[in-house]
Amino acid sequence: MTEHVTTPASAIGRVPPIAEAARRDIPAFVRPGDRLMTIGGRRVPAVSGLTLANVDPATEEPLASIPRGGAEDIDRAVRAAQQAFTDASWAGIDPDERGRILFQIAAVIDEHADELAAIESHNMGMPLMMTRHMMAGVAQIYRHYAGWPTKLYGHTVPTVGNRLGYTRKEPLGVVGLIWGWNGPMPQLALKLAPALAAGNTTVLKPPEWASLTTLRLAELLESTDLPAGVVNVVTGTGAEAGEALIRHPGVAKIGFTGSTATGKHVHEVASADLKRLTLELGGKSPIVICADADLDAAAHGAAIGFLAGSGQACTAGTRLFVQDSIREEFIDRLVKVMDTFTVGDPFDPATRMGPLAARQHFERVTSYFEIAAQDGATIRAGGKRYGDRGFFVAPTLLTDVTPDMRVAKEEIFGPVGALMSFTDLDDAIVKANQTEYGLAASVWTKDLSTAHRLAAEIDAGTVWVNTHHEMTSGPMPFHGFKQSGIGGEGGFEAMDAYTRTKAVLIAL
Ligand code: NAD
Repeated sequence: MTEHVTTPASAIGRVPPIAEAARRDIPAFVRPGDRLMTIGGRRVPAVSGLTLANVDPATEEPLASIPRGGAEDIDRAVRAAQQAFTDASWAGIDPDERGRILFQIAAVIDEHADELAAIESHNMGMPLMMTRHMMAGVAQIYRHYAGWPTKLYGHTVPTVGNRLGYTRKEPLGVVGLIWGWNGPMPQLALKLAPALAAGNTTVLKPPEWASLTTLRLAELLESTDLPAGVVNVVTGTGAEAGEALIRHPGVAKIGFTGSTATGKHVHEVASADLKRLTLELGGKSPIVICADADLDAAAHGAAIGFLAGSGQACTAGTRLFVQDSIREEFIDRLVKVMDTFTVGDPFDPATRMGPLAARQHFERVTSYFEIAAQDGATIRAGGKRYGDRGFFVAPTLLTDVTPDMRVAKEEIFGPVGALMSFTDLDDAIVKANQTEYGLAASVWTKDLSTAHRLAAEIDAGTVWVNTHHEMTSGPMPFHGFKQSGIGGEGGFEAMDAYTRTKAVLIAL
């Protein structure tokens, strides 16, 4: 029988037990050995022959290695994508046919959802329950965009005299896609699905800590009617493969998800030759809990807000603002909910929080416990690692936080909430907006006017009311304001982001 650590959030944890039985079923694809990239429809190693090792963050056991691609591999991939773009076997086909192939991609993901979910859980530590849920959403994103190729209408434009003016929506060419390890398959889908629907060809550079699902997906795509060279994958580090991709003159656009610091660098480099750019970057999202809220729902929502994915979520609600009059009562309820967040083996169905994704990230996150204490915050719950094997961290709540503290300003990207309070709505709005980021927020209230006012005045691309982290698989746009990004994903806006508009004027 599997034992759990039901998180005594305020206590010292024990080694999270690993469900050895569940682990016997490790998919062949993640077992030690060298995996291959896909370029021009062929499975290839890096030109250098070098590889990068992966470890399972729950056990620290070795997993399969990925090729350490570099500039030469990127160049080959871009050429393959250019060839696939110009020979008209993709951009030039009947839009209905492009939609059909996107439906095939969704079907192949559905068919292999369990395997892809298990690979992801081994690779980055997210509980299997969540990665399974995620794969269903991923297939849905491809299905959503499968409907768009047939609806990319241009306009006729009012003209004078014997002139006909109209516009055409055209693909951009080769697009380079780069994203993060905290939700690799959805982050890829939100880029790849609209990019393909619009008729672009692609070079994918997955996150180096979690590339295995992308490599497996590229293999699975061989069973669809997607022409060779439309989707190319080059694995490797950001400094080598990523840098080569953003600098390559054959790339028309970069779709990027990652940290704000890397995003600024990508912006600078890609702008040198005016590449199109979408940047989905970091966040430090507020959760505003008003005195009239359903406090149980708010406590659950807030816990999910900063603990889901072990806090490794761009939209994590890590700044909690609670109205003064309910502060103590809310903290008590929140800590009780945090105690139910079972930390442990990602393969155990009862686990709600797995490990952090990698050792260096774990060290960075845990360093904030000391920073918080030094700055005068109180560690009300957690503030500890679990065990000495795997990168497990206790759900952590910091109180007595002030907006100037580092824990209130910096994106920690771990299961750490910083709790502050507010007096009235004006105060809540000022405090919620006191951040360089503008990715997301949630507000908890039963009052419709309060909900609409906060939704309008909080400076963030997504505002949830009485929920947090809820994403639709495609239709809702997702945009980062301020230092959280440029442009966005989801919705029809994503089709705009992966097309260009040509004006045609004919003298009749
Ligand atoms: P990161 O910026 O370190 O890496 C992201 C990707 O960029 C990786 O694939 C990496 O290899 C690549 N990269 C690194 N250096 C590069 C370079 N010089 N040139 C080109 N590519 C380079 O981010 P991370 O640590 O992997 O991800 C966590 C960050 O991502 C957090 O800040 C989080 O908030 C953010 N994020 C944002 C969203 C969103 O939609 N806004 C979603 C998920 C994660």
